[in-house]
Amino acid sequence: MVLRLQDVTVRYGEAVAVDDVTLDLAPGQVLAVLGPSGCGKSTLLRTVAGLEPLSAGSISFDGTDLAGTPTHKRGFALMFQDGQLFAHLSVARNVAYALRLRRTPSAQVAARVEELLALVGLSGFGDRLPGTLSGGERQRVALARALAVEPRLILLDEPLSALDATLRERLAGDLREILHAAGTTALLVTHDHEEAFALADRLAVMREGRVVQSGGIDEVWREPLDEDTALFLGYARVLRDHAARLVLQAAGLPPAPAVAVRRSALVVDDSGPVRASVDSARVTPEQVRLVVQVEGVGAVDAVAALGSRVAPGDEVPVRVDVTRLAVLPITTAP
Ligand code: ADP
Repeated sequence: MVLRLQDVTVRYGEAVAVDDVTLDLAPGQVLAVLGPSGCGKSTLLRTVAGLEPLSAGSISFDGTDLAGTPTHKRGFALMFQDGQLFAHLSVARNVAYALRLRRTPSAQVAARVEELLALVGLSGFGDRLPGTLSGGERQRVALARALAVEPRLILLDEPLSALDATLRERLAGDLREILHAAGTTALLVTHDHEEAFALADRLAVMREGRVVQSGGIDEVWREPLDEDTALFLGYARVLRDHAARLVLQAAGLPPAPAVAVRRSALVVDDSGPVRASVDSARVTPEQVRLVVQVEGVGAVDAVAALGSRVAPGDEVPVRVDVTRLAVLPITTAP
């Protein structure tokens, strides 16, 4: 493990912002800490950067305790939501900033800047000023700048959240590729599960200062710890008791106290075992989105294939797509 947080606690006076967090990060891995606003994720990131003192616990990198290492000697790079570029400096100057501070010879700086701009897909943008770039381009420049000094670890604070949805999706894929191509180990904090899924290999779910669940993206996604975690991960609803049993039975699964369902877990299908009556139908570019009533379950979301003629009031057969639900062993966190 390259980065190791052991029982990390950070207090502001009486308030505990980070509560006994233990996390490991392997070389080249991207870990997303996902949690709602105020759960302590920025504090955690700032603590790793050396910008907040630990109240208890330890942080080590490559086996060396970082307690005595100030921020600028940690070899970490930070990238924030809005990139924070120097507006009066050209793209090339922005990217070169830290290299120049280190008095790297000019020829070497120029070559490295070219290489980094190519990496982030902005070759030829060197002379532009940040004000003339799109939001996505600015974030790429910020990333190139962060990677310039070959950080041992890159710390990302919601790097995509300032972008609009389309751009966010596009840049997310690129950012992931760039991080992997550069072999950079990264710690990302975000409240946006899409951002976490798009960028990270591993996920740690944080709530009220604590890490309540961690694991591979798939693992956490398929087996969220409890109702709050499931909803936070983007599941549409959590069904309990009788409703959970009905849906699980239709999916061919054993009973459980609760099941989290995505909007597309129920699918209109002639061979479906469940009867539903359609409350509402809305056509989207991918499918028809429905809200249906199922006896014993109540109102739930469902989908039908594009082109299927489904209208409010219709009785339709539905099946349950087992890959679009998650069985919850418990309903609320212990
Ligand atoms: P997040 O990044 O998840 O939104 P933060 O780490 O910013 O959460 O904050 C966690 C908690 O610590 C919040 O209750 C916040 O008000 C508190 N906090 C953060 N920074 C400070 C500070 N400098 N002084 C006092 N309290 C702080």
